[in-house]
Amino acid sequence: MHMPIESPHDAIVIGGSFAGLSAAMQLARARRPVCVVDAGAPRNRFAAHSHGFFAQDGTPPFELIAAARERLRAYPSVRFVDGRAVDARRVDDDTGGGQRFTVSLDDGSTLAARRLLLAVGVQDVLPEIDGLQPRWGTSVLHCPYCHGYEFGGQRLGVLYASPESVHHALLIADWGPATLLLNGNAIDDASSELLRQHGVAVEPAVVSGLEGPLPHLAGVRLAEGRLLPLEAMFIAPRVRIAAPLASALGCEIVDGPIGSMLRVDELKMTSVPGVYAAGDAAQMRHNATLASADGVLAGVALHRSLVAGLGD
Ligand SMILES: Cc1cc2nc3c(=O)[nH]c(=O)nc-3n(C[C@H](O)[C@H](O)[C@H](O)COP(=O)(O)OP(=O)(O)OC[C@H]3O[C@@H](n4cnc5c(N)ncnc54)[C@H](O)[C@@H]3O)c2cc1C
Repeated sequence: MHMPIESPHDAIVIGGSFAGLSAAMQLARARRPVCVVDAGAPRNRFAAHSHGFFAQDGTPPFELIAAARERLRAYPSVRFVDGRAVDARRVDDDTGGGQRFTVSLDDGSTLAARRLLLAVGVQDVLPEIDGLQPRWGTSVLHCPYCHGYEFGGQRLGVLYASPESVHHALLIADWGPATLLLNGNAIDDASSELLRQHGVAVEPAVVSGLEGPLPHLAGVRLAEGRLLPLEAMFIAPRVRIAAPLASALGCEIVDGPIGSMLRVDELKMTSVPGVYAAGDAAQMRHNATLASADGVLAGVALHRSLVAGLGD
C-alpha cells in the first residue's frame, strides 16, 4: 500500500541515543520542528551501567536515554517515532521550499524534512570465539575508562587484534596484572621487550573459548587445553556504521583506524549538503560524552544552516 508523505519537518534525526538526542535538544530549543526516529539499540545496551558521563556515572544506559527523551518531551516541536529508517533519499523540490529529504520507515510510512542528521552509531564486529559474545559488556570489554575500574587489581587479558594491541595491553596493565593473548599471532622483539619491562605477560597460544558462569569470566581456554584464569578480557573490535542509509544518500564513508565512519566537515556536515552526522558514526573517539558533545555541535550547525539557507 502506498502511504502519503507528510509535510516536512525542519530536521529528521535518525538515531535517538547520546548523539541524536543531544542534537534534537538544540533544535528543540531553537523552536524547530524535529522528528527523532530511533530503533532503540544503543551501542552500550550490553552494559548494565554507563560510566564517566557528566553527573551520571553508573546510571544504566537505557535510564540515561529515557531521561533525555523525557526532557525533550517538554518541547512541543519534538516528535518521536519508534522504528527503523530503512531508506533515505534527497528529492528535488520545485516548489521553492528548498531541498528536501525523504526517510522511509520499516512500517511503510515516509517522513520528509529539509535536513537530515545521521546519529546511527556503529556496530562492533566481535571476534568469533566461543563464549565471547554473551560476555560482551560485562566481562569482555573494550574501554578501560568505561569499565576498567570495576576490575581494578584483578587478572586482565587483552586479546590481540592488531599491532596496536601491544599498546592496548600496556594501558590495561595500569588497571591490574595483564596478559596479552596473542591468539596465534606474532609480535616483534622490541614489542616483547616493552611488554616485559612493563610487567605484561604474553600468552602465544590460540584462544579456543571463554569459560565461567555467564556473564562472568573465570578464564580463557587455550587450544592446547590449559585454562588461563582471568576476571576480564579487553578487546579492540573493529566497527562498522550501523545503517546503510548513508550509502543510499551518497554520503562519503572513510576507512578510519578502527573501521568505517562518515566523512564530515568541522561543522558535522557530510559530503552531501544538508545531511549532517554525529556520534560514533562520525568520529573516531567513541564515548557517550563525546557522542553527546558531537550531537550538540551538529544540532547547532544544522540549525544555523536552516537560518542561512545553506545547502538549500
Ligand atoms: C559494551 C559497551 C559499553 C560501553 N560503555 C560505555 C560507558 O560506560 N561510558 C561511555 O561513555 N561510553 C560507553 N560506551 C560507548 C558508547 O556506547 C558510545 O560511544 C555511544 O553509545 C555512542 O552514541 P551514539 O549516539 O553515537 O550511538 P548509539 O548510542 O549507538 O545510538 C545509535 C542509535 O541509532 C539507532 N539507529 C541505528 N540505525 C537506525 C535506523 N536505521 N533507524 C532508526 N534508528 C537507528 C540505534 O538503534 C541507536 O539507538 C560503551 C560501548 C560499548 C560497546
